[in-house]
Amino acid sequence: MAIKVAVAERLAKLPPYLFVEIDRKKREAMARGIDIINLGIGDPDRPTARNIIQALEAASFKPVNHRYPESEGLLEFRQAAATWYERRFGVQLDPQREIISLIGAKEGIGHLPLALVNPGEVVLVPDPAYPVYNAGTIFAGGEPYFMPLLCENNFLPDLKAIPAETAERARLMFINYPNNPTGAVAGLDFYEQVVEFANKYNIIVAQDNTYSEIAYDGYQPASFLQAPGAMEVGVEFHSLSKTFNMTGWRIGFIAGHREVVEALRSIKANLDSGAFQAVQEAGIEALLNSQAAVDESQQVYKERRDVLVEGLRAVGLAVEPPKATFYIWVRVPEGHTSASFVGMLIEKAGIVCTPGGGFGKYGEGYARMALTADVSRLAEATRRIREVLG
Ligand SMILES: *Cc1c(COP(=O)(O)O)cnc(C)c1O
Repeated sequence: MAIKVAVAERLAKLPPYLFVEIDRKKREAMARGIDIINLGIGDPDRPTARNIIQALEAASFKPVNHRYPESEGLLEFRQAAATWYERRFGVQLDPQREIISLIGAKEGIGHLPLALVNPGEVVLVPDPAYPVYNAGTIFAGGEPYFMPLLCENNFLPDLKAIPAETAERARLMFINYPNNPTGAVAGLDFYEQVVEFANKYNIIVAQDNTYSEIAYDGYQPASFLQAPGAMEVGVEFHSLSKTFNMTGWRIGFIAGHREVVEALRSIKANLDSGAFQAVQEAGIEALLNSQAAVDESQQVYKERRDVLVEGLRAVGLAVEPPKATFYIWVRVPEGHTSASFVGMLIEKAGIVCTPGGGFGKYGEGYARMALTADVSRLAEATRRIREVLG
């Protein structure tokens, strides 16, 4: 006889998985033999560059890399991250104390609230957002307070709209620019306001810069750590996943305030043993050697962006070409909800994209399309959308 498994309440507290219905419709369409164009997942379709794969191969033969890594990562990897930061943002970091490697940015984001937040304390979480900020908060027993990201505010949180008594109870604030899912960007002026707000209420800031290297038309996303005083209030997450087409490799890093970095290191030392060192060596190759593949990716995504944005506009959909990220945030047509629009695209056009409501309440009314299919498929997608919308 099997025992009865009651899962922990924290699991039940996670928001319902809103993609169930979409997944079902996708499977039905596939069963009907429909040719699916998948713009649903933020996972680069292009391979990792050869030099990075070769670095992994060489590193994987070294017996020293077959042993447990240190949870903070190889010093050489942290030095490479510091060098990359200095070159890219002009920010100086101490690789010994201000950087640790992560098993993907997601791992660090999910664990950070465990390091900083006591049960009942507030975490400021954007809405719509990457779901891990909220999940990590709930797992730590924290209380999420959702900051709406609205079109009229360029999808930046309105810090003045956060009630003072909430801000006083807040320990941590997550922000993410360039933003998933809206494609919005933030300048240093916004980061300066965040530093001021953080100082006023004694809040630690965690900015997720996963998309800093996917930008267009000469735009160069900033680092939060470039803002004066940012190193005293917060940290920034980076991922090699989207920049170098390495989502499966699981490697990223956190940089910034040394006590925050150290707190996350303590959590990691007790939960995981760090990233496979051979993957860290491949990461060093990615960060320090030719960035030609990054430039090429930007060019590829730019062409795709232009094809999709033009095609969507031609059928009367309201879209802005993003300055960064590989997402198009589309306002759904009148009379549709996020879910009804996305459902219709799957059933009638074989196009899979993500309903904005799945990223939070304020994502309702939008759909997210990822530029992870080639230009000919995106052109085909816009043809099909034209047929469906007439
Ligand atoms: C993809 C993504 C991540 C995850 O990055 P990994 O390094 O692969 O874990 C983190 N944040 C955002 C906003 C993302 O879109």
